[in-house]
Amino acid sequence: MTNLIFFGTPGAGKGTQAELISQKYNLTHLSSGHILRAEMAAGELGTEIKSYVDKGILVPNELVIAMMEKAAKTSWANNQGVIFDGYPRNLEQAESLQKFFAANNLELTAVINLEISEEEAKKRILLRGQNSGRSDDNPETISERFKTYHDQTKPLIDYYQNLSKIKTIDGAPDIETVAKSIHQIIDNL
Ligand code: AMP
Repeated sequence: MTNLIFFGTPGAGKGTQAELISQKYNLTHLSSGHILRAEMAAGELGTEIKSYVDKGILVPNELVIAMMEKAAKTSWANNQGVIFDGYPRNLEQAESLQKFFAANNLELTAVINLEISEEEAKKRILLRGQNSGRSDDNPETISERFKTYHDQTKPLIDYYQNLSKIKTIDGAPDIETVAKSIHQIIDNL
């Protein structure tokens, strides 16, 4: 079973690529941001979650970890591999995910690291913000989201490098070119 993590700054294209690749390889796309926004819109924990998301900081680990594990279990029960998009985002989540794979006798196949300059990523998010309706796609929150990425998420590159799982690709080109680079990686795994 193929289990991937799509990694990168906000605006690197993780969500767009995860959607395309999950369809092509019949994997389940598990976006933590998407799952949290669904809970924000309708769930009991919505108000609490929104208070973190609107500040551009991470939602507490216990909450996110439980939501993502539940979603992954359902996919695995249906014999589908997964793409984690936006998860894990700090060391505790990454360690917890490794334990979760082991407990389910499964393995992380690879981490696809989409590399893009911060300037380009910010441009993309602001463009998306015009239509996304996302309360966190505004300049102040975007700055905080990048700070959160640098402080807590970026160190995971070393963590996965040590596990020999990182595959870095250039995320700057157009959607189709990036998708092709990802196909090549997956087909050679
Ligand atoms: P995203 O859609 O991936 O840009 O995520 C939007 C927001 O949801 C982030 O800025 C965080 O507040 C929250 N979030 C998404 N994924 C996680 C995660 N793995 N851990 C904690 N908070 C998260």
